[in-house]
Amino acid sequence: MIADILIKNASELVTARGAKGSPKTKEGMADLGIIRNGALAIDGKEIVAVGETDEVLAAIRRAGTVIDATDRIVLPGFVDCHTHVVFGGSREDEFVQKIAGRSYLEIMQGNGGIFSTVEKTREALASPRALINRAGAFLDKMLTFGTTTAEIKTGYGLSTESELGLLKIIARLKESHPVDIVPTFLGAHAFPKEYKERKADYIQLVLGMLERVKTEGLAEYCDVFVEVGAFSLSEARTILEKAKKQGLKLKLHAGEFNDIGGAELGAELGATSIDHLDYISDRGMELMAEKKTIGILLPGVPFHLMTNKYAPARKLIEAGVP
Ligand SMILES: [Zn+2]
Repeated sequence: MIADILIKNASELVTARGAKGSPKTKEGMADLGIIRNGALAIDGKEIVAVGETDEVLAAIRRAGTVIDATDRIVLPGFVDCHTHVVFGGSREDEFVQKIAGRSYLEIMQGNGGIFSTVEKTREALASPRALINRAGAFLDKMLTFGTTTAEIKTGYGLSTESELGLLKIIARLKESHPVDIVPTFLGAHAFPKEYKERKADYIQLVLGMLERVKTEGLAEYCDVFVEVGAFSLSEARTILEKAKKQGLKLKLHAGEFNDIGGAELGAELGATSIDHLDYISDRGMELMAEKKTIGILLPGVPFHLMTNKYAPARKLIEAGVP
């Protein structure tokens, strides 16, 4: 066998290999699949050999670049499966309100939070280049910390044109940035102010957006924020069922501030992941374990929101949630 790149003598080679075809659960999560004195051969875009250095050296007849990783660890790039890196403006000023004791949902009801970012993002969409450059700079920074794959959500446009505009920006980043990018449509991030009294109309608008997302092939996932003050269970169901019919995979933001049954809904619909889960019922955990719905925990969120309510990680692992 020949290879373009051969990495050998790694004191530890972390493969993160796991159960075939399904995500890791329980004790399996602690098994990083480490090979001591490991080696790895890459040809083109594929890993063609992996194992102990002796084995890999015996299998590879010729290699272009040889990297000696003695006294080093070789591990896969990190995958950041929940980001909102394309946005306008900044919300540093809200820290003052948080310190003064206002909650995230109160700040949002007072036109802060998501709404202030929506306003700034809509303005910024007039010159997409600046938004692309700014998001690209965030991705550059993430890459320096080892993230090689990132999901990016929309959700700061909340109108057909601006949500599609954000997806097109994500597509441009996907073409041009070295980080592998997975696009997610989050038109159901919040009800925009102009639809505050016409929620049913906004749901119809999101269903229409989904048609465009499908025809233009702009997203791999559809996400919905299931929460008091955001989307109810039945509104989320309408959107997610339509997205599923359109061939999109599903994700949910659920249990960030309240448990209104988002985990149960996501598991029932076969969602790939449910994110946040600071509030989740035992039944929700059971269903997620049964349906192999991945729980994504975001401890940075309660930390910066100062809610002091973290997801029950150990309980989720023991329940068998992947
Ligand atoms: Zn989010």
